Amino acid sequence: MEIAEQLTKLAELSNIELKIRDKRDRLEVVPKLAKDAEDEAATKATAVEVLDRKRFDKDRERQAKEKDLQGERDHLRKWNARLDKIRDDREHAALQSEIGTLKRVIGRLENDILERMQEIEDIDKDMAKAKDVHAAAQTHAQEEWSKVQEEVATLEGELKELEASRTKFTEGLPAALVNRYRKIADKRQGQGVALIKGETCSACNTVLPPQLCLQVWKGVVLEGCPSCSRILVHEEMTRSTTAEQAQQDGAPA
Ligand SMILES: [Zn+2]
Repeated sequence: MEIAEQLTKLAELSNIELKIRDKRDRLEVVPKLAKDAEDEAATKATAVEVLDRKRFDKDRERQAKEKDLQGERDHLRKWNARLDKIRDDREHAALQSEIGTLKRVIGRLENDILERMQEIEDIDKDMAKAKDVHAAAQTHAQEEWSKVQEEVATLEGELKELEASRTKFTEGLPAALVNRYRKIADKRQGQGVALIKGETCSACNTVLPPQLCLQVWKGVVLEGCPSCSRILVHEEMTRSTTAEQAQQDGAPA
């Protein structure tokens, strides 16, 4: 492949890559609000989950206390029954004292259960609010997405097409040239090729030696801009499809 043809193709590749960058940037920017709203909705969902877990733990505590209470009440029933049968005064008094203690334990358990129930009720109130907040955040995220959905789909489609044509161009060029171009592009905001316009590098506005401009235009050298090192392509070359045509058209004015 002639150098001139390589340069022309490279210029087109560079053009495509700049467009790809632009599409990717747009794909970051366009759905930003929708993505933020989605993150916000996810945070609200976590708040609901936290409350749900808290409720589950409290309810488990309540159940355990209920079970204890049941056991202590059974004891009390048995002890009361036994009390009726005891005739000995001292034994009677001793058991009555134990029953008193047991009643205090039962009272404490009943209190604990009431406390848990109150806490669960409070959690339920918080949960209802948190669920409303989450639903609103979700609706908001959906609204934001519906605003940009079409644009995002279009951008994704365009990006896909550009990527396909980039592959085509990359495959049509010598690997070494593509590698060189990529290295420069990585350092130079994605732009590895610069057009010579007049006698100036259009990427960094450096005035170039006329001899260099002429050689690039003739397609005999693969040179980088002395200032920004981007591979130089003459703008005249990019106006026709092939270097042969450029040469037939005659020297640039
Ligand atoms: Zn330059």
